[in-house]
Amino acid sequence: MQYKAFIGIGSNLGTPAENCEKAIRLLHAPPEIEVVARSSLYESEPVGKIEQNWFVNTTVAIKTSLGPEALLNAIFKIERDLGRKRRKKWGPRIIDLDLLAYGDRVIHSTALTVPHPEMAKRRFVLLPLSEFAGDYMHPVENKTIHTLLKELPESPQVRKILSTS
Ligand code: ADP
Ligand code: MG
Repeated sequence: MQYKAFIGIGSNLGTPAENCEKAIRLLHAPPEIEVVARSSLYESEPVGKIEQNWFVNTTVAIKTSLGPEALLNAIFKIERDLGRKRRKKWGPRIIDLDLLAYGDRVIHSTALTVPHPEMAKRRFVLLPLSEFAGDYMHPVENKTIHTLLKELPESPQVRKILSTS
């Protein structure tokens, strides 16, 4: 399990908090993936023009022996297992898993952009990540998660969910 990666998880359909927890459970399943840290759940105001429910978001740190493309396929499988069908960009979704970062690799292939192109601009990614990866240096921005977070505006809103019951 030599490579470390971060995965972003989000949902705003059905039971979003439960869907995120299920996605984390499914990430534990493949023998090639070891979950080493996870953040709290957050609720976040939807970004973009589509009228839709607030999202629940979280992030996970893994160690893996999979390369980036194989890891992307593994997270697509989890999306399918949780019943995701439509792939409308920015639209509502039962579950979304994004490969945020893969070590300090920078990748621009047809299937994959790493770090995730929106990562540095999204409070709902940086805030959960800051729980365990505040000192991670973004290999394109050359700034840490803490610094990127400080530079972002306060809105759209992101709040930690204190209780899921
Ligand atoms: P969103 O950008 O809203 O998460 P989708 O999940 O529907 O949209 O889109 C995923 C598409 O983006 C996939 O076809 C995938 O190949 C591509 N993609 C490129 N880079 C990444 C990445 N780092 N993580 C996840 N998907 C990625
Ligand atoms: Mg996605």
